[in-house]
Amino acid sequence: MLRALFTAASLLALCAAASADTTLLSGGHVIDAERGTVLKDHDILIEDGRIKAVGRAGTLGASGATSIAMNGAFLLPGLSDSHVHLTSRSDIHGYRRLTVSTARAAISGVANAEKTLRAGFTTVRNLGAPGFADVDLKSAIDSGEVPGPRIIPAGQSIGITGGHCDSNLMPYEFRETGGGVADGPWAVRQKVRENKKFGAEVIKFCGTGGVLSKGTSIGAQQFTLEEMKALVEEAHELGLKVAVHAHGAKGIASAIEAGVDSIEHASLITDESLKAAVKTGIFLSMDIYVSDFILGEGEAAGILPESLEKEKIVGKAQRERFQAAVKAGARMAFGTDAGVYTHGMNARQFAYMVQWGMTPADAIRAATIGNAELFGLTNDIGSLSAGKRADIIAVTGNPLTDVRELEDVDFVMKDGAVFVNELAQ
Ligand SMILES: [Zn+2]
Repeated sequence: MLRALFTAASLLALCAAASADTTLLSGGHVIDAERGTVLKDHDILIEDGRIKAVGRAGTLGASGATSIAMNGAFLLPGLSDSHVHLTSRSDIHGYRRLTVSTARAAISGVANAEKTLRAGFTTVRNLGAPGFADVDLKSAIDSGEVPGPRIIPAGQSIGITGGHCDSNLMPYEFRETGGGVADGPWAVRQKVRENKKFGAEVIKFCGTGGVLSKGTSIGAQQFTLEEMKALVEEAHELGLKVAVHAHGAKGIASAIEAGVDSIEHASLITDESLKAAVKTGIFLSMDIYVSDFILGEGEAAGILPESLEKEKIVGKAQRERFQAAVKAGARMAFGTDAGVYTHGMNARQFAYMVQWGMTPADAIRAATIGNAELFGLTNDIGSLSAGKRADIIAVTGNPLTDVRELEDVDFVMKDGAVFVNELAQ
């Protein structure tokens, strides 16, 4: 009897909490991101930060809910970006970066996180930040102190001495070294363990040279296959996925063999590696917008002349390989390298993905359910279905017809809380 009373009281308490925090988004067109179809005139009922039901307008019986009129806007799952650097600024490149402390980078991160969220991106993987500033940024966002997307932080990027993930700008006397530098299988394992210890939720490492680093060659593999295998094995053992920065063909092939979860950039991926990627289900996260920023505004932002030369070679090639990857049926993530270009413009990449071979539905799928699969978060994000987190955005035009609609988002909700609502009420 006592137990029955207790149960009834708990239920009452639960019901009270639920009705106090129930929202109805009424009269929108709901985009089914998985199928690429539109459910016309639908409502979404949200309870305690999660989607309770999606149904025809007026059928969800949501008495007591706070109602927000969607006025025929198109509703989508919150977008996600698999490759950002929230603590970086697009106007601080090259030698200017030496003037930025970790604390200063974290402050930029606060501003950039808000810009990203307001642009409709409710989840991001932050693939590299100095001094674990992204872990702290995540903590500040999760505690409600500052607005921002859900962050999967990588902490310090791991790389070889003198590689793309090192800092190569200063002469020897300054002993300037990147925080994630490690050489040898055991040193690499130690770095993975250290990253995990300080809050990394994904491991990022550099498997080839890069565009923006000094003195590295895009085609050159960084880390031996033995080191890559040790890194991936250690990360997976600790429950962390691995994202590899890789432009050159050899580094990409080795990283696939080592068992990474996503190839970032994948610029010069061969047909053979594409086949291997399709077979293993590895995601390709190809940032095909950023080249226009680097070649257009990079020089004024301090990007080194050698980097501009490298980008001229790699940018166009990457778009062609993106097209080949789409044709081959590779799993495509939506990753942009925001931070190299200006935060909040992430959605500009959609039009490039469509121009280079994807349908708008496929591009949207990459930024929603596709990334959710890569992140291991399909129970929480990626589609507008009952049980998932209420991460919902809206635009006034149909993005399946014109994907550039996503460049100007009119409504943003994350975990059931509204951050942007520019829809006429
Ligand atoms: Zn990056």
